[in-house]
Amino acid sequence: MKIARVRTHLLEHRLAVPFESASMRFDRRSHVLVEIVCDDGTVGWGECLGPARPNAAVVAAYAPWLIGQDPLETEKIWLTCYNALRDQGQRGLTITALSGIDVALWDIKGKHFGVPVSTLLGGRWRDSVRAYATGSFKRDGVDRVEDNASEMAAHRAAGFHAGKIKIGFGVEEDLRVIRAVREAIGPDMRLMIDANHGYDMREAVDLGNRAAEYGIDWFEEPVIPEALAAYRAVRAGQPIPVAGGETWQGRWAMKEPLETGCVDIVQPDLCGTGGFTEMRRIMDMAVLSGVRLVPHVWGTAVQIAASLQFMAALLPNPPRVNPIEPILEFDRTENPFRQAIVTRPIEHRNGVVAIPDGPGLGIEIDRAALAEFRPKED
Ligand code: CA
Repeated sequence: MKIARVRTHLLEHRLAVPFESASMRFDRRSHVLVEIVCDDGTVGWGECLGPARPNAAVVAAYAPWLIGQDPLETEKIWLTCYNALRDQGQRGLTITALSGIDVALWDIKGKHFGVPVSTLLGGRWRDSVRAYATGSFKRDGVDRVEDNASEMAAHRAAGFHAGKIKIGFGVEEDLRVIRAVREAIGPDMRLMIDANHGYDMREAVDLGNRAAEYGIDWFEEPVIPEALAAYRAVRAGQPIPVAGGETWQGRWAMKEPLETGCVDIVQPDLCGTGGFTEMRRIMDMAVLSGVRLVPHVWGTAVQIAASLQFMAALLPNPPRVNPIEPILEFDRTENPFRQAIVTRPIEHRNGVVAIPDGPGLGIEIDRAALAEFRPKED
């Protein structure tokens, strides 16, 4: 079996109500899938974290190192591609594009052997995971305090045991939002806060100290990801566990944050940090550093399915009778193609998501939906 073709599929939807995180404004949802076709007709699917068109361009740039290769040789292909653009890459688009390719190759490998990727990774420790609701961005034209509180209350009513809200818009306003959300969801639902690196170190320490009384599970991306000393200062200066790592892509970028105590919880993104091939190494590094791993997930059903396969195989840590179970980040913001592109949507039931057990990623792509959400100018 040889790789015959590498294609990308852009997906786009213009939002009814634009929204913001502390670092980015969204007026549309835009994602890119990777399709790898083999000479025997086997097809694998992947997805790249981050901007769709730049990722598609880098995937196309890797194609000469893929065509004609044996798709089962995932390690060989990963290192060949990494070496090809190492001097210009190491992190960012070179790794996010390679992630989409690697995920597609593992999908092919699973289909070739007739088993889910989780089996290839060493076995399924679980067939379902609890999900946490991600949402509560700052939406245009609405009161953020009321909007976030009612949204999280709705997630609770839908059965979610945990949810995450966006902060980083200013300490005082953020504290009003956190207080209102905690009142709306009651004392038992787990609540996380994500600053999308919108604070400086002093603001993050101030916010963390004053938000702790509202029972916060983790404080995500408090400061810019390059500022590792600031991460350590935030961790030392306030009591909420610190999370981060969606942009520390690849094992080399993960090394210093993990070894120097930047976070309590590391959040590599399977479709951003190098795919299954690299994610396995990062899982081992997290264990060696005594850091919890909760994957970052922000994409379509392809990324969700891939993350679920990884989470099925995620080693129990600590390896005791009742280990800490991983939880799935489950994006609840507006995105009509998120599940439309697969024939069987991956949905939650009472806040729990079943992990597909079919070959590869365990999904089938709906090509009519790909056509429906293709950007009009393409
Ligand atoms: Ca985040």
